[in-house]
Amino acid sequence: MIGGGLAGSEAAWQIARRGLRVRLYEMRPSRPTPAHQTDRLAELVCSNSLKTEQESEAPWLLKQELCRLDSLLLREALSARVPGGHALTVDREVFAKQVTQAIAAEPAIELCRQEVTSLPNGITIIATGPLTSDALAAEVARMTGSRHLYFYDSISPIVEAESVDTSIAFWASRYGKSTDGTGDYLNCPLDRQQYEAFVGELLKGRAVCAHIPEDSTPYFEACLPIEELARRGRDTLRFGPMKPVGLVDPRTGQRPHAVVQLRKENLRAASLNLVGFQNHLKFGDQERILRSIPGLQRAEFLRFGQIHRNTYINAPALLTGTLQLRSRPEVFFAGQISGVEGYVEAIATGLMAGMHAAALVSGDEVRPLPRETALGSLCHYISGADAAAYQPANITFDLLPPLDDATRERLRRDKKARHAEVCRRALRALEQYRHAHV
Ligand SMILES: Cc1cc2nc3c(=O)[nH]c(=O)nc-3n(C[C@H](O)[C@H](O)[C@H](O)COP(=O)(O)OP(=O)(O)OC[C@H]3O[C@@H](n4cnc5c(N)ncnc54)[C@H](O)[C@@H]3O)c2cc1C
Repeated sequence: MIGGGLAGSEAAWQIARRGLRVRLYEMRPSRPTPAHQTDRLAELVCSNSLKTEQESEAPWLLKQELCRLDSLLLREALSARVPGGHALTVDREVFAKQVTQAIAAEPAIELCRQEVTSLPNGITIIATGPLTSDALAAEVARMTGSRHLYFYDSISPIVEAESVDTSIAFWASRYGKSTDGTGDYLNCPLDRQQYEAFVGELLKGRAVCAHIPEDSTPYFEACLPIEELARRGRDTLRFGPMKPVGLVDPRTGQRPHAVVQLRKENLRAASLNLVGFQNHLKFGDQERILRSIPGLQRAEFLRFGQIHRNTYINAPALLTGTLQLRSRPEVFFAGQISGVEGYVEAIATGLMAGMHAAALVSGDEVRPLPRETALGSLCHYISGADAAAYQPANITFDLLPPLDDATRERLRRDKKARHAEVCRRALRALEQYRHAHV
């Protein structure tokens, strides 16, 4: 088990509680990372929130599933919780201390404080996170092919398709070159005044706090944040991601002054990606500024744009639905490096990799979690998304399979009830899996 962060600690625990021995390598404190500040296992490097606990929300479902599969880290998070409204917020010191103590007290886990620079023989889980040490990153690149390893994240925001106002936004491809005949992009048109106001707001937007020094987060010219493009000139965005060429707004019969293009996500039919809109703005500012775009006034954001240092593999090109490397099934990936995003998603993939690795050691069949569950859907997405444009995923309802037609129709006007039904279905499927295989 390489990496004693969120995913690695959970995975090691899952293996140990199945009666197997595991060696857990953690390079801190002898080799620090740019973000961790202690030598503790499972240190939360930034916020102390494990997202919402509102019943029938997608992050709630993921946490419910983890609790039902006896997740060590969820248990410790609940016991380290501090008041945080609807979110599960924890005292980060208490949380990491408790996890470290639990791992130290487990005789089946041997903790080695040492950097791993090459892959050991035997069944291995790589969970070295977004700040994987350079030597191991080189080893992973060698093993997977360097084109499948990324070193930073440039994430565009995603909105719920239903929440876009299609009386303003229109489906079209530039010069009518659509692949499906209906127009591949939903275009939000801006006139000169709206564009100028948008650029003005972008320039005033506040950036997220930098946890890692700027010089270690180089921007690639092809993926500059929109606020950086705005700083380079009032019209730079209009010649970049907001260029209007080849598009005619059916409402005016004219080419708009600028457009924002939204594209369907491959495995996420119900959501749309704001193309080229990666940014570094605080989530609150992002929501306000992006909602000033015509058509997005009531947009529901499933994910905000982000840019940060992140080592991760192109999971759809490399992994199976059980987090095993296709070319070397004895090697598992978990946590941020496996192509997920977020604390709870890291814990979730750690738990699954631990379970599956234990099954492999024991000679049992390695069975993916049911597709209806949040856990199963997360793995389905990371192993099955479009490899050509892969971006790390966090849990949202659009990763889960849609309800059957009759139920959807019955609950057509009640999104909350639809989500509650998806959660009930997930927890039922998880119970069946648990009884049969855990
Ligand atoms: C700066 C930053 C801020 C973030 N903020 C948030 C946030 O607020 N909320 C959120 O949900 N997510 C956040 N994330 C994303 C992600 O959820 C966290 O990074 C999370 O800790 C990932 O869990 P992990 O187990 O994959 O990696 P980590 O928790 O980072 O664990 C990886 C461990 O592997 C060790 N390691 C690395 N290389 C080696 C090696 N060669 N040998 C041995 N050990 C090694 C590291 O020291 C580390 O302890 C943030 C990421 C970054 C980089």
